[in-house]
Amino acid sequence: MNSVLGFLAPVLVYAYIFMLNAILPGRWVTGYVTRTGSSDKLKYRLNGLLTLIIVVITWGVLGYSGIMPWDWFYTNRWYGLAGAIVFGLIFSTVIVLSQPPVRKSFFADFYLGRAENLQLWGGKIDAKMWLYLVGAIMLELNVLSFAGHHHLTFGDQASPGIFLSAGLLIYFVIDYLTFEEVHLYTYDLFAERVGFKLGWGCIAFYPFFYAIPLWATADLPNPGSSTFMLVLSALIFFGSWSLSRGANLQKYYFKKDPSRSFLGIRPETISDGNKTLLVNGFWGLSRHINYLGEIGMATGIVLALGYPLLPWPWLYPLYYVALLFPRQADDDKRCALKYGPLWDQYVKKVPYRIIPYIY
Ligand code: NDP
Repeated sequence: MNSVLGFLAPVLVYAYIFMLNAILPGRWVTGYVTRTGSSDKLKYRLNGLLTLIIVVITWGVLGYSGIMPWDWFYTNRWYGLAGAIVFGLIFSTVIVLSQPPVRKSFFADFYLGRAENLQLWGGKIDAKMWLYLVGAIMLELNVLSFAGHHHLTFGDQASPGIFLSAGLLIYFVIDYLTFEEVHLYTYDLFAERVGFKLGWGCIAFYPFFYAIPLWATADLPNPGSSTFMLVLSALIFFGSWSLSRGANLQKYYFKKDPSRSFLGIRPETISDGNKTLLVNGFWGLSRHINYLGEIGMATGIVLALGYPLLPWPWLYPLYYVALLFPRQADDDKRCALKYGPLWDQYVKKVPYRIIPYIY
């Protein structure tokens, strides 16, 4: 019985999120991308943080009342993962087949997607934003439940590092949903189409793979990390977060109002009279300092666990390296095409791709 429920759990959670996303009050915002074949910017209705709060409260009520043990998602994690993999495949297939082809190869269309933007009820639900929302919230439930399992197993002997690592992942999700609007200005939204990569990625990969640091250690005893190591891990995480969030926010404010200062930094720009690029602050350190921040945050999350020699948790930051280094190259090509000689000027002024003075 548990195996069937565990298998169906992601679909039930995602359906619950869909309903909450549709009925809870939300903030209408104008996004960055334009409707296909028009210059009208797409509108979105955002309520991700509220949806997260209601889902977590529901989880808390089920746990408190004894209906669902606090570590239910941990004990059923393999079934949950299997259910998410199957549902992600079905979702991607249906969403791709329902749209006209955009490439010659069906497999390329299946992987990269066909529709640029899919919205229901005039933007009340946006497919891409919903996918990121379900991924983030399911990840949060996994993290809470994995940390719950550690607590139930070890009680007073539990490892503070596991809770710190879980706390940092929880922060990562809350931060994303707090700045949900900023996500509208990122590559995920303006360059990706809805297919397997995005659909399966958010339904199956994101909520389960990002929990791998805790998946690998929730069952292990307290490694006895020193307070110094715990503080250092938190500092690495928050130092990296400030690079990532800082760069994203600086660009977001700049795109909304090019004269607006951010953290007291007045935008310095280069322009060809038509297009403009930021060249100072976070965008003067390297051309993608936010990617370095993302990798650093993942490193802090792994170090906090106190098992630096265990290989599995390191897959998490390594995945970011594998994702973001090629993405930087792709984005560079896209920007060179879009900005022409202005991009060459930027590259001369800010020569480092990701790591200042190194790469
Ligand atoms: P960026 O936010 O860096 O966006 C790149 C775009 O920004 C470019 O295509 C260009 O778009 C614009 N741009 C680049 N340089 C400048 C400049 N100097 N001045 C003005 N505009 C510029 O990258 P992503 O969208 O890939 O990533 C967004 C965030 O999401 C990052 O923090 C990243 O780390 C994070 N991320 C997180 C993941 C996760 O799983 N946690 C996965 C992937 C990314 P335009 O055409 O608008 O000018």
